[in-house]
Amino acid sequence: MAFEHIVGQGRTIALLRHLLTTNRIPHAFLMEGQRGIGKGKLALQLAMGICCSAKESRPCGSCPSCVKAVHGNHSEIKRIDEESVIKIETIRELQKEIQLKPYEGTKKVFIINNAEAMTIQAQNALLKTLEEPPSYATIILLTNNASSLLPTIISRCQLLKLVPAKQEEVAEYLISVEGLSLEESKVVASFSNGVIGRALRILKDEEFRKKRDIIIDITKELLGGKIINLLERVSLLNEEKALLEDVFDIFLSWYRDILIYRETRQVDFIMNCDKIEEIKLQANKINSHKSKEIILIIEKNKGNTRSNVNHQLNLEVMLLNIQEVLSW
Ligand SMILES: [Zn+2]
Repeated sequence: MAFEHIVGQGRTIALLRHLLTTNRIPHAFLMEGQRGIGKGKLALQLAMGICCSAKESRPCGSCPSCVKAVHGNHSEIKRIDEESVIKIETIRELQKEIQLKPYEGTKKVFIINNAEAMTIQAQNALLKTLEEPPSYATIILLTNNASSLLPTIISRCQLLKLVPAKQEEVAEYLISVEGLSLEESKVVASFSNGVIGRALRILKDEEFRKKRDIIIDITKELLGGKIINLLERVSLLNEEKALLEDVFDIFLSWYRDILIYRETRQVDFIMNCDKIEEIKLQANKINSHKSKEIILIIEKNKGNTRSNVNHQLNLEVMLLNIQEVLSW
């Protein structure tokens, strides 16, 4: 049970197991990793492990303490969850609470999500607690970006860096936990960039599938040279900025697949492995030089989305440029 279903954090989990087994839990952890990588889940497991009453293999998942933690009503595991800003008042509340001895069990854990949202005053206040924490307390800070925290905070924490999982690890999870087929799991895992939260979003996102179908149709039309149909299709992809990156990533994956197939004639490294016939077909028509040019065009336009360009126009220009390369 201990640290079950946490994808790709083997080294960090090994360290945490060791700390839990030897009862050498630091007073503060700083868990750093990109959004969706599983910081919240791992922090909860760690908190459970600290409070668990089992003799070994903590967290056991079945003692009263673990059960409460899973249901989110453990009185000694507190979570601060502010999206935009964590004010000094919030940290002062924490400081009051941390002074009260645990009445359920012997440990107390505070998880601070989005720790980078702490104001400088909040960070300075927290620093005092980190300097002299009560012996029964552990604070777990979660952040996308540790460099936005005061160096004095960082230096008082055990740093845990969460890294993207291997594609196979994500695929394995999708098969065993989400019940996907091998082929489906490979497609979703390859678009996840090793971030399990992203894989789960793609999995539940009907729009992502639709988008990919539209984009594959567009690549067919690009080869056919039908500009009018093309520009109509683009309007279907026009959407909010946050999801626009998906559009470029799907285009990139497609032309990379064509390049890889063209150069290796192997299907093992193809991301869109459920569309292999279409990839083979297009790879016969698009040589490696052209594929590389197209990939450069897509990367350039993907970069443009970070500035305030007109998205529709950006996509249209990209497609026209790709079409030009294809017509050489
Ligand atoms: Zn337990």
